[in-house]
Amino acid sequence: MQKFSYHTHTNFSDGRNSIAEMINHAERLDWQEIGISDHLIVHKNVRQSLSWPRWEKCTNTPVYYFDFKKATDDFCRHKEAVHKEAKGRNIKVRVGAEVDYFVYDGWIEEFDEFRRKTELDYYISGNHYLQPNNGNDILDMIETTLLPPKEIEKLLKQHFNCICQAIESKKFLFIAHIDYARNRACCGDNDYIEEKRNIVKCLQKNKIFTEINTKGLRKNKNFYPTNWLLKEIISSDIPLIISDDAHCTEELGKNFLEAEQLLKNINCKNRYNL
Ligand SMILES: [Zn+2]
Ligand SMILES: [Zn+2]
Repeated sequence: MQKFSYHTHTNFSDGRNSIAEMINHAERLDWQEIGISDHLIVHKNVRQSLSWPRWEKCTNTPVYYFDFKKATDDFCRHKEAVHKEAKGRNIKVRVGAEVDYFVYDGWIEEFDEFRRKTELDYYISGNHYLQPNNGNDILDMIETTLLPPKEIEKLLKQHFNCICQAIESKKFLFIAHIDYARNRACCGDNDYIEEKRNIVKCLQKNKIFTEINTKGLRKNKNFYPTNWLLKEIISSDIPLIISDDAHCTEELGKNFLEAEQLLKNINCKNRYNL
């Protein structure tokens, strides 16, 4: 069974536990390695977003940034804190980030500068938001209930296309929860099949791997990605990693057994190895 996770969150972003608590627990599970991948969500207009009053209230830690400068400083300190905590232990600890990939002009250059300055070990791309107005705005998926269906369709197509852009940028070790949009009830498992297939093709072409994320199971009774999509990923020979997307110690390695069983049942041979 896989005994590591590269997709975990601490109370540096929206996780419940500290870096030390997460690493201690990973050691108790006898893991060889843990990757800490707190959220990096930087959008120039985050405060103008319709969703901002809710985001501002629901977090005590700075998950949402409007400027890369502050994010850079915070992540440099965070990286140091992880290194300090990891020192002298038997488990290997890596520090990365789960990045929302935004498409407005200038974002990618600023992200590149962030990468140069922070030198984190790895990046995961995980897109949680819609990007109206050519990416110049940011919108929570649950806010789509306020929009006309044509607009929702346009934004979701753009969302899936944005995942492809993230893959093609080659800046990410792997891509997280590619059908996350279903979580927010605006996109059924069998909607946007063409767009989701396009993501699979894009992963294959760019030789980027993806995850089977057990948080989907806890959120809405099915892994990310859903079964048919997972089968297409496997038949395209794209490597898979199991992620717990742990936001607290109890979620580390959670449902890995079920994920292993499912991968075995659908004959998945291509797994990401350390
Ligand atoms: Zn995520
Ligand atoms: Zn996550």
